[in-house]
Amino acid sequence: MKVLDQRHLPDERPATMDEKGKRVFIFPARVSGLWRSLRTVTEIFLVIFFLVLPWIKIGGHQALLLNIGERKFSIFGLTFWAHDAPLIFFILAFLTIGLAFVTAVWGRIWCGWACPQTVFIDGIFRRLEYLIIGSHVQQRNLAQAPWDVKKFLKLSTLWTLFIIVSLVIAHSFLAYFVGADRLVEMTQHNPGENWTIFVIMAFLTIVFLFDFGWFREQFCIIVCPYGRFQSVLLDDDSLTVSYDPVRGEPRRGSVKNGETEGDCINCYNCVAVCPTGIDIRNGLQLECIGCTACIDACDEVMEKIEKPKGLIRYATGRALKGLKSKWFRPRVAIYIVLLIAVVSALVFSVQRREEIVVTILRGKDTPFQVIKNGDGSEEIINHFKMHMKNQSIDDVQLKMMIPEGLKEKKVEIISQYESFDLGAGKDLTVHFFVKFPKDVTGRSGTQAVKLNFIDTKNNKIEAEEDVLLVGPKSI
Ligand code: SF4
Ligand code: SF4
Repeated sequence: MKVLDQRHLPDERPATMDEKGKRVFIFPARVSGLWRSLRTVTEIFLVIFFLVLPWIKIGGHQALLLNIGERKFSIFGLTFWAHDAPLIFFILAFLTIGLAFVTAVWGRIWCGWACPQTVFIDGIFRRLEYLIIGSHVQQRNLAQAPWDVKKFLKLSTLWTLFIIVSLVIAHSFLAYFVGADRLVEMTQHNPGENWTIFVIMAFLTIVFLFDFGWFREQFCIIVCPYGRFQSVLLDDDSLTVSYDPVRGEPRRGSVKNGETEGDCINCYNCVAVCPTGIDIRNGLQLECIGCTACIDACDEVMEKIEKPKGLIRYATGRALKGLKSKWFRPRVAIYIVLLIAVVSALVFSVQRREEIVVTILRGKDTPFQVIKNGDGSEEIINHFKMHMKNQSIDDVQLKMMIPEGLKEKKVEIISQYESFDLGAGKDLTVHFFVKFPKDVTGRSGTQAVKLNFIDTKNNKIEAEEDVLLVGPKSI
């Protein structure tokens, strides 16, 4: 196993890759300090948040549900279906522009503080390694040691814990997509009854185990597209974890004749703690996830040598050059305008969105039919085709009602359905007729009627739709 030589990092390739393209493993040292403490608190909160969120309910429904199979999406009380494409588009646009905005202002704060990849690796997997194996030196020694009983016991204990944690994460992750209630129900049955979900669960567990247990920084460096976009999302005014070369250089060991030594004592502690194996002193790099470990490591050194802290700190490129940083700049203004536009469009769409959508069209046949009753009176029949769509997350039973005033005039609906059972997200197309005495449409031959659709469970009007009754014109 090749292990990172922190004092001799290659310039021409990522430090986690040797000259033949093989993986070079990193064993980052533990660090303590202000930022480490803040990140620990954040990680505890986020681990709980990520794992618990799918089990939280708002208004009786899962707080965050992304059920792709049933094309049902529930986000903090709002429910969308696949046909709500504009709403889904606005939400995705908000997240994308929001991330671009956050990156332009605060750099890779998402990667270092909130990305599940960082949170789970740093918050759980690395902690288990420190607990079972020991310090980064002990981890490195064990990894390079030949196999014996001690190595087998330590690594088998560690990977058993990794598997348990991966299983927990996979269950919570799947709950976002199939629904927490359904997942609990499925776990009480034989896996054979839900073998597709069982296979997905096993696959996810393996993916998390592989990624969080072994692949780690390679995901950020090689796979994650967000990291690749940094060069276009960041500029000289973005806040990033940075080394101050004005203060630090010339570092110890590189002082030439007549130069005064800078504050950097070339101890390499900042490299030793870096989880992506880079030297922050080489400037902003794609591999830097902004985890702040090097800030704490360097602050500890500065404290020991009695120099001011902050040789590595959160700073903008402009501030490092001694210039004033501009928080508000054209790209930030554009992101804010776009965010306001997208949020306004989202709010507008949500407010206009109806949970029960009813569309009524006139039947394709003749506009009306005249029928003769036994007593010689005439009545008119109109034929309509109706499409009903339930966009809510609840099943409903709807009853179509005509206004009381028209009921008294003997206007009646003829349908094969007493009421309409509409499951959540389902739609229904039915034909119905309206029968009415000839005088209802009067001399004009038409009469507008508002049909009400009442939920039988709570007697609430869920939708209203106008139809035009048509009869013969009288001269
Ligand atoms: S350079 Fe510093 S902030 Fe960036 S990943 Fe390494 S330790 Fe974290
Ligand atoms: S930890 Fe600080 S002093 Fe040590 S090498 Fe890094 S920047 Fe220099």
